[in-house]
Amino acid sequence: MKELPSLNSPLLEGNLSPTLLLEAACKYQTPLYVYDFDRIEDFYQQFKLAFGGRKTLICYALKANSNLSVIAKLASLESGADCVSLGEIKRALMAGISKYKIIYSGVGKQDYEIKEALEIGVLFINTESNEELLRVEKIAQSLGISARISVRVNPDINPQTHPYISTGLKENKFGVSIEEAKKMYLYAHKSKYLEPVGIHFHIGSQITKLQPLIESSQKIAALLRSLLALKIEIKFFDIGGGIGVVYSDENLINPYDYAQEILNTLRGLDVTIICEPGRYLVGNCGVLLVKVLYEKAHLYKRFVIVDGAMNDLIRPSLYNAYHQILPLGDYQGQLSEADIVGPICESSDYLGKNIPLPPLKNGDLLAVLSSGAYGFSMASNYNTRGRAAEVAIQKGQISLIRKRETFEDLIALEKEFL
Ligand SMILES: *Cc1c(COP(=O)(O)O)cnc(C)c1O
Repeated sequence: MKELPSLNSPLLEGNLSPTLLLEAACKYQTPLYVYDFDRIEDFYQQFKLAFGGRKTLICYALKANSNLSVIAKLASLESGADCVSLGEIKRALMAGISKYKIIYSGVGKQDYEIKEALEIGVLFINTESNEELLRVEKIAQSLGISARISVRVNPDINPQTHPYISTGLKENKFGVSIEEAKKMYLYAHKSKYLEPVGIHFHIGSQITKLQPLIESSQKIAALLRSLLALKIEIKFFDIGGGIGVVYSDENLINPYDYAQEILNTLRGLDVTIICEPGRYLVGNCGVLLVKVLYEKAHLYKRFVIVDGAMNDLIRPSLYNAYHQILPLGDYQGQLSEADIVGPICESSDYLGKNIPLPPLKNGDLLAVLSSGAYGFSMASNYNTRGRAAEVAIQKGQISLIRKRETFEDLIALEKEFL
């Protein structure tokens, strides 16, 4: 017999205590995303402190969780924003992040997005190809301005994470090679309409080993030194995001070690370090609450069917990602393994596989842990399911930060049909 796992977790403490979660679910129903805003603050401060003493700008990667209240919380802590669309830039501004703290990244920016980002005057545009650099130049010229840019350099380093969230290998679509980057900087340096101010890399997500990050930083710092020698005055060294969080029993990168190692690679250089943590700031600060609809057993298999599904949290279906799932409340009876599945008509619709759980009945609540990042922000309306409501808990106070979507919301853009 397997050892019985404990039915609690240090992640279910403070504002995410079972009592508060049950209260939130009772008030706002399920599926429900719940975030601990005090914990977000703690993670942010830890990160900030790790780089303390150095000129640093933390630019939260909005795509991890782009709820306006989450962004506003980070804005109140003086965070900047790493945005990958004009929509995200608008969210950042709306939530109170200054334009001077906004970076615009992404492999496929459209002309209207570049134009508006330039008009807004974001800190810089992170270009990901030579073509894009030329596009930015042309648009800047039409506006009669000089565009602050950086180049995303692909250091060709394996981040040792899931292939779908690896971005810094030469076979990935992101960034350009060191040789190409150098040419782009030389070109930008000569252009009247381009002002190279930053250098950037981001090698992947959910990274749990420091070595690939250090090696990338060394490679890019060497490039930076050669650019400075050519009098190309780069002021921002952007080390991207990617620091992992706890899903099961990962050994996490300590932000202090991370900061020290990065600083070592920059010895003697006077640059502002920009970090773009997404998952790290919010991943462990949220849970998805779902309600049990039925249990169903086949000869060899136990299924727990819940009201949350892959449209709410796609990470298990998309990356085969593991999330710990725990029942809330006191339970009796033998644990046995079950697949936690949703109502969607796809066999890949599951939240967990072979999860040890006690016998459950209709109405019981389950918490899907570590769902604060890439949870709601990747949610969809597949099967005409309204997206879940989102709730923040701060100092024990529960507040609704996004209403549950209604059927009316879902059809609002289709009102006039053929
Ligand atoms: C996604 C992304 C991030 C954030 O990644 P995390 O793994 O959530 O920290 C940072 N920078 C860029 C350019 C990204 O695309």
